[in-house]
Amino acid sequence: MMSQRANPDLLLELQAYGAVGAESCFNCGTCTAVCSLTTDENQLPRKSIRLLQVGLQDSLLASVDPWMCYYCGDCSETCPRQAEPAETMMALRRWLTAQYDWTGLARKFYTSKVWEIGAVLALAAFVVVMFILFHGPMVTDRVELNTFAPAHVIEVLDWIMLGGLSFFLLSNVARMHHAIIRRGTKAPVPLSLYATEAWNLIYHFVTQKRFSKCDEEEGGTFWQKPRWRNHWILVSGYVTMFVLVVVFLRWFQTDEIYPIWHPQRWLGYYATIALLFGATDAIWGRIKREHQMHRFSHPSDWMFPILLLLTTLTGIFLHTFRYLGLPMATYIIYVIHLAIVVPMLVLEVPFGKWSHLAYRPFAIYFQAIKEKAQSLQQEPTGALAAGD
Ligand code: SF4
Ligand code: SF4
Repeated sequence: MMSQRANPDLLLELQAYGAVGAESCFNCGTCTAVCSLTTDENQLPRKSIRLLQVGLQDSLLASVDPWMCYYCGDCSETCPRQAEPAETMMALRRWLTAQYDWTGLARKFYTSKVWEIGAVLALAAFVVVMFILFHGPMVTDRVELNTFAPAHVIEVLDWIMLGGLSFFLLSNVARMHHAIIRRGTKAPVPLSLYATEAWNLIYHFVTQKRFSKCDEEEGGTFWQKPRWRNHWILVSGYVTMFVLVVVFLRWFQTDEIYPIWHPQRWLGYYATIALLFGATDAIWGRIKREHQMHRFSHPSDWMFPILLLLTTLTGIFLHTFRYLGLPMATYIIYVIHLAIVVPMLVLEVPFGKWSHLAYRPFAIYFQAIKEKAQSLQQEPTGALAAGD
């Protein structure tokens, strides 16, 4: 499709992102035969490994294949060469995230523990210092969180942070679009396709339906597919809590204690339980290393669920101290809570593991646009052939 120069160091570069064993692949295709997500258009994972071996960097950049893999691990289990194709696909997703990111921060975080941990600690320290310098009056005979940290001020900071996160994430998505559609296909892409295929984006973000195909042997329903179910519960908790603390903070952060049936409480409880379950499940799986997908853990695989778990635990403490009427404990845990939440959002959403939640549905969306554009281009030829 495109003329390009091979990068002989690509395989070596991918090792820094966690690829192990890809050099042993002899291209037999067993992995593609067992992959439940492989299609004519996306031959997972053999094609990506072949492109990697021969160093065709631009073709990999134009490919959505790594995003179509949900790491069931079947390919690694059946590979006769122990080339660990599933882990290579994971490493390619990290590499692609770094390639889309124009700031270079994703590459630093994925390839250096010092950068990743240092950035989290630096941002956490910044939050603590800001609170020490600018917190409101500390009422000590009762809990007045909105005097210590006024919700209307935190809300403005939330919106500034949301604007920054959206800018970085969407500008990286624009680079992804450039690589996949602008450079990845010669077919003209009518603008109308962006509208008619937009349902893919929303549908796959909300349902994560393709995940269910990685659980095929587990049975038919949502509840019988543990990986899809657990991931969906985690994401639903994350989205609910994000909307509560960023969009509806004044409604959520109140000094008044509402009755148990109030939506402020049960929405908060649902999000907390979902986050606690999802983060613990992710960490416990990596500790036990029973499933193929947990055999290899890159530092970035630990960082996000750990930050998520700490966010949830400090949130539970905050809620408990506030309800017990302990003012100083409430104010201190609030600062600690935000010192974890801010790096978790600012670093993980546009530059870290969280970003796959955006890149996966965008990859499906771009793939649908690309396929439709290519079939539209072929239509006149087909009609002519039929006329002959
Ligand atoms: S990764 Fe393994 S199964 Fe797949 S093509 Fe290479 S050697 Fe064959
Ligand atoms: S990990 Fe599963 S979904 Fe991914 S390429 Fe291998 S078999 Fe396919």
